[in-house]
Amino acid sequence: MARYIGPVCKVCRRHGNKLYLKGERCFTDKCGVSRRPYPPGQHGQARIKLSEYGLRLREKQRMRRIYGLLERQFAGYYVAATGLPGRTGEEMLGLIERRLDNVVHRMGFAASRAQGRQLVRHKHILVNGKSVNIPSYRVKPNDKIEIHEKSRKIPYITAALASAKNRPSPSWFEVDGANFTGTMKSMPVRDELNEPAIREQYVVEYYSR
Ligand code: SF4
Repeated sequence: MARYIGPVCKVCRRHGNKLYLKGERCFTDKCGVSRRPYPPGQHGQARIKLSEYGLRLREKQRMRRIYGLLERQFAGYYVAATGLPGRTGEEMLGLIERRLDNVVHRMGFAASRAQGRQLVRHKHILVNGKSVNIPSYRVKPNDKIEIHEKSRKIPYITAALASAKNRPSPSWFEVDGANFTGTMKSMPVRDELNEPAIREQYVVEYYSR
């Protein structure tokens, strides 16, 4: 599956807030949003008023960018969520949160989702003892995620783990940083998915229009 490889700070600036796409840099004053808090481009500082449709489109794009997905795969999560019993927006968010690249990032093994994706693609990740190199792999409660023994000395993994210690870990994971393992204890909790904030209801309204 393809992925976006263009400039990412411009994406955050377009959406007007930090989407945390670059890892450690996002927490420093080198962050593009802190340095230039207006949309990119020649007319970036012009005032524009979004329509009701525009607001929903923007929110859909924002959520898609946060998780590093392209349109077809992202829309597929909406379709899958409509078939689930809960509220469509929350179900959609839950499905995307359970992607292996996101879980690797949330557990602190990768500084960003993009880095999580690279770890998965390069076969540094084991799920229940087996190598999995599919970023969209859906993690289930009680699955054990592990960094491959040969990969535990990779500097960017140890750096990511060290900086993750300073941030709160979601309650649905149990992470043992010293042993490079983590377990998903339960399904993602919506109330803890607030940074960056996502208005999933707008995304549902966009697709169901
Ligand atoms: Fe760039 Fe990260 Fe700041 Fe976004 S949050 S502008 S990706 S440094």
